[in-house]
Amino acid sequence: MKKNRGKKCGYVAIIGRPNVGKSTLLNHILGSKLSITSRKPQTTRHNLLGIKTTEDAQIIFVDTPGMHFNQKKALNRYMNQEAESALKDVDVIVFVVDRDTWNETDKIVAEEVFKSEIPVIITINKFDKISPNNGLISHIQALSDQYPNAIIVPVSALYGNQLDILESEITKILPVGEYFFPDEQITDKTERFLVAELVREKITRQLGAELPYETTIEIESFKHEKKICYINALILVEREGQKIIMIGDKGERLKKIGQEARLDMERLLEKKVMLTLWVKVKRGWSDDTRALQSLGYKSKD
Ligand code: GDP
Ligand code: MG
Repeated sequence: MKKNRGKKCGYVAIIGRPNVGKSTLLNHILGSKLSITSRKPQTTRHNLLGIKTTEDAQIIFVDTPGMHFNQKKALNRYMNQEAESALKDVDVIVFVVDRDTWNETDKIVAEEVFKSEIPVIITINKFDKISPNNGLISHIQALSDQYPNAIIVPVSALYGNQLDILESEITKILPVGEYFFPDEQITDKTERFLVAELVREKITRQLGAELPYETTIEIESFKHEKKICYINALILVEREGQKIIMIGDKGERLKKIGQEARLDMERLLEKKVMLTLWVKVKRGWSDDTRALQSLGYKSKD
């Protein structure tokens, strides 16, 4: 732990509607594949601490599952709770918006964000995108008129542009204090958790719109041996039809998901991985709070 005076340390919530690029932003700042990204909204289900330690500061990021409105299922309730609790207890809010879209959901998120007294940095993401009508300047103008106290930083999370500026703006606001985590620690999540996230990411990438987001991964066993790590993972789906899609013709799809996930796991764990994947139907789990809890999605009330 660092004890030097003058160093900054604190928590930063990354808030924004689904798909604005929150996970991409976090991954790029941390320089490591921590959070998962995909074109489908709602791929981030858990708050994830990502820790960036430099000479001057330790920035602890809380990635939120996005905010989900007017949806009834227990899974969405859980996600909302996580997003709301992320908004308390932080020192800075990084409010991520898209460079050329500002819709109803952004407005609702903005309301939540500016309700608190916490300093806000509006991060206008995807500014690498070439828009037919270059509205970036007027977008910035409108946001700064509406939220005069907020700092505005345009970035490209994907290409890493201006993220150093974002980091230095965050650091300015953070309180002076001792670092909470050891220098080398980049997340508070376990290897088990990260491994499950990798399987989920591959599924989302492989299946895209074919499968709804109601899929969860259970790591049944996780065993490190000297040179190899043995992992058994269970893919829980809602219906028999989804199971058939997941497995694919002659098991081809499941095999591909497994291969891709295994390669990423080997990179993450820095050793060989023996991965076994199973698919099982668990009816209605996403609508059953108790079933969610038994899978580790803890309710916070
Ligand atoms: P989240 O739901 O807010 O976490 O969004 P993700 O990080 O999963 O990103 C959603 C999609 O936007 C992905 O396809 C990203 O590759 C894409 N994306 C994120 N940041 C940028 C960016 O700076 N520029 C462009 N062009 N695309 C981006
Ligand atoms: Mg995300």
